[in-house]
Amino acid sequence: MFLMTAGIIAAAGLAFGFWFWWACATPSSTFFHPVVISNPHAGKRVALTFDDGPAQRFTGQVLDILREHKVPAAFFVCGKNVEDHPDLLRRIVAEGHEVGNHTYSHPYLFFKSKQRMAAEIDRTQATIEKVVGFRPNIFRPPYGARWFGLVPTLRERGMHLVMWSAAGYDWKKDAPGITAATMKELKPGAVILLHDGRETRAAAEIDRSRTVEALPAIIAGIRQRGYAFAPLRDFLPPT
Ligand SMILES: [Zn+2]
Repeated sequence: MFLMTAGIIAAAGLAFGFWFWWACATPSSTFFHPVVISNPHAGKRVALTFDDGPAQRFTGQVLDILREHKVPAAFFVCGKNVEDHPDLLRRIVAEGHEVGNHTYSHPYLFFKSKQRMAAEIDRTQATIEKVVGFRPNIFRPPYGARWFGLVPTLRERGMHLVMWSAAGYDWKKDAPGITAATMKELKPGAVILLHDGRETRAAAEIDRSRTVEALPAIIAGIRQRGYAFAPLRDFLPPT
């Protein structure tokens, strides 16, 4: 009897653990309402997003490709990287792209206090404002990891929590693999996740050449399927 009860408790604990991990770490989880994952009402339009920049080589290369193909994108930048490369943030804005907040130092937000999360967000908002003169209204958590207190913190600042519905998995795939993964998850109103930069903790610059290599094929593939590119702001709910 004791063993059976212990077994049931252990199974329930395990099930809760899995569910809780899903709720905190899965891009499509709405446990921490509200969150922008995609916009199914957007018709055959998708929004491109790039995380972890700005970065010396790769942000410029991504911007060159976007300009050549006349594609808008949103860049979720880290405050620390903005301090290192303010000119690249100015170029992002000058070329008509959107800017989002991706924290200052790219920490996992799991088990972080509301104050710590607010400090990461506010420091980045101030850094961005100093460089380009405005504060973004969109935020994406590092690793897609959300924690208690994040949504109220964003709400107090009038910011949207933006996840994604399609990923190129460009942290582990080669260029054809990135293109294939992105195309596989394409649907009306998709928000596509790619990376132009690096985590601020990494000692060396992460190689994003595979993302850069894949980008023209991704743009061509999306257009071939009859989709257009839209700015992310078109997908946000009214505030
Ligand atoms: Zn990131």
